Amino acid sequence: MKKAYNLAKITHDKDQETVQSICIKQIQFNEEKQEFNKRPNKTGHRSMPRSTSQSSTDSFSSVSNESSEDELSPQNKQQKNSSGFSDFCIKNIKQADFGRKEIEIAQQEMPALMILRKKTGGEKPLAGANVVGCTHITAQTAVLIETLAALGARCRWSACNIFSTQNAVAAALAEGGISVFAWKGESEDDFWWCIDQCVAADGWQPNLILDDGGDMTHWIYKKHPSSFKKLKGIVEESVTGVYRLYQLSTKGKLCIPAMNVNDSVTKQKFDNLYCCKESIVDGLKRTTDVMFGGKQVVVCGYGEVGKGSCAALKALGAVVYVTEVDPICALQACMDGFRVITLTEIIRQVDMVITCTGNRNIVGREHFDKMKSGCIVCNMGHSNTEIDLASLQTTELKWQRVRPHVDHIIWPDGKRVILLAEGRLLNLSCSTVPSFVLSITATTQALALIELYNAPDGRYKQDIYLLPKKMDEYVASLHLPKTWTLQTKLLQVLNFSDSCSSLNGATAPSAVEWTEDNISFTLSLSCSLCS
Ligand code: NAD
Repeated sequence: MKKAYNLAKITHDKDQETVQSICIKQIQFNEEKQEFNKRPNKTGHRSMPRSTSQSSTDSFSSVSNESSEDELSPQNKQQKNSSGFSDFCIKNIKQADFGRKEIEIAQQEMPALMILRKKTGGEKPLAGANVVGCTHITAQTAVLIETLAALGARCRWSACNIFSTQNAVAAALAEGGISVFAWKGESEDDFWWCIDQCVAADGWQPNLILDDGGDMTHWIYKKHPSSFKKLKGIVEESVTGVYRLYQLSTKGKLCIPAMNVNDSVTKQKFDNLYCCKESIVDGLKRTTDVMFGGKQVVVCGYGEVGKGSCAALKALGAVVYVTEVDPICALQACMDGFRVITLTEIIRQVDMVITCTGNRNIVGREHFDKMKSGCIVCNMGHSNTEIDLASLQTTELKWQRVRPHVDHIIWPDGKRVILLAEGRLLNLSCSTVPSFVLSITATTQALALIELYNAPDGRYKQDIYLLPKKMDEYVASLHLPKTWTLQTKLLQVLNFSDSCSSLNGATAPSAVEWTEDNISFTLSLSCSLCS
């Protein structure tokens, strides 16, 4: 039996509740980023007073062996792939083979996307979809982008972060014919230029946005309002981007439907938690070689990212303190054995300060002045707003770049504070992230795009929608076989053929079939998605 569903719409009351809860958490974002007023130029310089040196465009990840011949800004280079395709702008197309290997490695850990490709190949549920994306450009995202392309979409992609692009992966995407505009170490102006290249191309009208942080959405809204109105929808994955969507919605300016993937169980409870748990230590080790045992660490924010970060640090023997403004999260931190404290109380004695709030100005000059020498400061939140860098741009403080993504800020008395990734999110700037957990979010994003694109007129209004629990269960089940050996129990628990969610309101995965080796399984999809 097939059951149809509609995605759970957030009602007006729920809207208010969500907005209120965000307010309670004191998240304050700039109404609009000032960069919208800037004209992107081809050779623009970074707006930050501390410009990114050549070394900061290097990456620690295994996919970033840069060639020394790459001194020219990508915008100033003629670029072509081996087929003569030139609608892209990346660091170095010669890295494509290496990037392809990285993508293939990621594919092995992204089972659900590979199943979607296999099962939907004939049908092409995204045929005619023109997707503009703005996400971290990593091997994992490449698997998502190529899945969307395999399902029929045309894609143009830019990076949501100036440091997180894996250049070899971007090269592999371009070699495969994807219009990608991104490189590691973009200036702020490059960043907006790349976004604009994705939107304003000849003969191209985007009809879907896949966004991480809301920059693509706001760029199109502000700079290309007529294109904005023609969109079928937006899929947004980050807390920041969702907050910005609510800002638009409450002003009555959201004229198209949007899917909030950030608040899906499959995002919150997996990506935010486990991705950070598995990558924070990696980012800190690669930049500082620090020993964690016995170190005193304060983690600001005990949401999902904070929980994952605290767990990883505690497991290595660090003494972890937590700051929180939400009493429920603060209580959770207590119950998990962490001491909840204010930053001002603890700042003099800690060896590391890690922000995970999504909020602004968590660590300010008043804190920096009290830190002991050698204190490491970094951020795991989406934006570089959590650490007040502007307060460190004063004449008496010297900045010294000691390694890529590692700055020493030196006080007149010789005290040094170690700032990582210029306050941008540490793990995606300085390490790699686990493919398997990102596969869960990526699959949810792909399904949300398919749903928005194929939904009949009128199903989704000018509003923000959450994906239903059944969709989360479906995505989770697609990732279970590798870790769960009690397959028959799974079938009983999920009662898959009866209760699994559908797409397009009338489609459903109808059976789970386990292969003999008990490692992978196939879904027989009886829906418009699948052949
Ligand atoms: P969340 O809302 O679950 O948690 C944030 C927590 O910070 C909340 O509990 C809130 O009460 C607390 N907080 C807010 N202001 C505070 C303040 N002034 N002092 C102390 N605590 C404060 O969000 P989350 O899912 O944990 O995500 C946090 C940030 O990390 C977001 O910006 C998100 O986009 C980003 N993120 C990063 C990664 C990554 O890989 N680095 C992954 C997912 C999300």
